[in-house]
Amino acid sequence: IMFKVVPVSDPPVNNQKTDPAIPCADAGLPFQRGDILQIVDQNDALWWQARKVSDPVTCAGLIPSNHLLKRKQREFWWSRPYQPHTCLKKEEFVGYGQKFFLAGFRRSLRLCRRKSHLSQLRATLCGTGTGGGCWTVGAPYEEVARYQRHPADRHRLVVLVGPSGVGVNELRRQLIECNPSRFQSAVPHTTRSPKSYEMNGREYHYVSKETFESLIYSHRMLECGEYRGHLYGTSVDAVCTVLDEGKICVLDLEPQDIQVARTSELKPYVIFIKPSNMSCMKQSRKNAKIITDYFVDMKLQDEDLQEMEELAQKIETQFGQFFDHVIVNDNLQDACAQLLSAIQQAQEEPQWVPATWIS
Ligand code: 5GP
Repeated sequence: IMFKVVPVSDPPVNNQKTDPAIPCADAGLPFQRGDILQIVDQNDALWWQARKVSDPVTCAGLIPSNHLLKRKQREFWWSRPYQPHTCLKKEEFVGYGQKFFLAGFRRSLRLCRRKSHLSQLRATLCGTGTGGGCWTVGAPYEEVARYQRHPADRHRLVVLVGPSGVGVNELRRQLIECNPSRFQSAVPHTTRSPKSYEMNGREYHYVSKETFESLIYSHRMLECGEYRGHLYGTSVDAVCTVLDEGKICVLDLEPQDIQVARTSELKPYVIFIKPSNMSCMKQSRKNAKIITDYFVDMKLQDEDLQEMEELAQKIETQFGQFFDHVIVNDNLQDACAQLLSAIQQAQEEPQWVPATWIS
């Protein structure tokens, strides 16, 4: 059995060998989110033996079982009413839960309650969190399997995700423009009526509110929104139409919509487009300014860049486990070339996907 690690820990956990809760000293396997672990032995209810697929030479080590990690998550949630002063933000919990693992969960919990130790632990062990967004207690590991698309199979849906302003839309547009016979967007649905020059099925599928809502209720809408009293959205069937034509459908989605698209029907390959760090971005934008004189208010620009970087970090913390590939967009041409090559790999080379997609 192979598992992809879902729990998040930023900064990465690398000293689990020394976890005092592990039954044998120094037996822990250090791992971090996104690692693929091969489970060697699952007989113990609390500690499994695993080895990292990326590091087959190293001996197997102990990792907490699914059950143990879930228990820690649950116990942490239950412990929260006793710690009103701490105001842990949601994604801080993820890293914090992992630290409990390091220190032995129950012991840390008691310590926190008695000595109001929590914020100190957080500061010293977990660094700072950012806050905001939603977080749910989910399975800490996802069972995965190797999938290679057969040339006769449909292509995998390509999903682009990134903070607004990073160029997700522009990249998608360029990709389709450079090879429209290979890449295509899905035609969205809307409840507004067509304009004189629009054609049903070309700009939009024009449907009644009832039809649109029935698509939502039957889980056939990948994403939707409202604009000036009308509903707009992209359906699973619109994506399938593109895939059935033998093309690669490219969508940009909000991060919270990724999970809806993660089905064996679409087998999405999710690419996160992120900005480079502030100083690199400033430099490349400055260069752009010299060339195009596009950026007028540099102060405002700095704030925008900072905000984008922070948002990208938040998205990565909350949804990073769903990303198959990450591209840093500090230059549109380079990013487009990287995107092309990532998509090629996704369609033609073996990839780790949830085991349920191919069972
Ligand atoms: P229009 O009615 O001018 O064609 O589109 C108005 C707005 O609807 C767009 O600016 C966009 O914000 C939104 N929209 C268009 N297509 C979609 C879609 O597929 N999904 C969502 N969520 N919004 C869309």
